[in-house]
Amino acid sequence: MTSGSPEQGPLNREGRAFARFSFEDIEVFQIFEGSVSRELDAAFFSNVSAETVETVLQANGFPPGRIPNSYTVTIARIGGSLVMFDAGLGEHGRPKSGQLLANMKAAGLDPSGLSAIVVTHFHPDHIFGLMTANDEQVYPDLPIYVPAAEYDFWTRSDAIPRQRQALAERIRRTLPQWSNIVRYENDAEILPGLTAIASHGHSAGHTSVLLSSGAAQICVTGDVTNIPPFNMHHPQWYLAADDDPQQAASTRERMLDWAASDGVICTGYHWGMPGIGRVVRRAAGYGLEALEMT
Ligand SMILES: [Zn+2]
Repeated sequence: MTSGSPEQGPLNREGRAFARFSFEDIEVFQIFEGSVSRELDAAFFSNVSAETVETVLQANGFPPGRIPNSYTVTIARIGGSLVMFDAGLGEHGRPKSGQLLANMKAAGLDPSGLSAIVVTHFHPDHIFGLMTANDEQVYPDLPIYVPAAEYDFWTRSDAIPRQRQALAERIRRTLPQWSNIVRYENDAEILPGLTAIASHGHSAGHTSVLLSSGAAQICVTGDVTNIPPFNMHHPQWYLAADDDPQQAASTRERMLDWAASDGVICTGYHWGMPGIGRVVRRAAGYGLEALEMT
């Protein structure tokens, strides 16, 4: 491994900076942004005990007592555009995360070559990479497409939960001041070949994006699920990070059922590298058949 390469770990077993895939004329880069882990606490799922979570973690080769998490940013070349989906934690998660720009470079991608950024939702690990530690824009010259329902909730709602107040404040002092923010509606064609699919629940306006070209279909699911052994295998587990756990669970069931039935290739922001594959049905719940990295 060369210096500066991502660390190997359970969510990036080969220590890869990126992986590249082609589907007809869609090119998909999965860029590793970093990984963090935190102590397992009883509140991580509201309807599952810490003991059960621990058993699942150990059965899947994760270190005991820690909640694993990683971030994989999808960048797609489609319809003449190079589009990035979400922007990582940026300067806010270093040194373990914030590797997006370095790993884009490793993939041969220059941020100046991007045509647009499409955001799935406004949780920190998806939008803090849009801003410096001083709240300045990292990509001031790019259109940043955001779900209208998400934008309206975070900028206008007076029902922000207490644990999300600081996040809402940061959003309110940044995004509304940026002239390059473009709101997109449910079901809209955001850009040629990119369709918004409302997948609300993880956050009020969480939205997934379907990439289509010819027979190829790839769904950027965002945070419809966390790591596969958690709520992909167990869609009814209520994740504390889901702002509306019941809605998130029914969205998960709907999206996973659709992806498995239609054979849609999906990406998942927290699935670990390569973070892309086919959703398959299991005896209970769903699983991920990750695509092979070449
Ligand atoms: Zn996330």
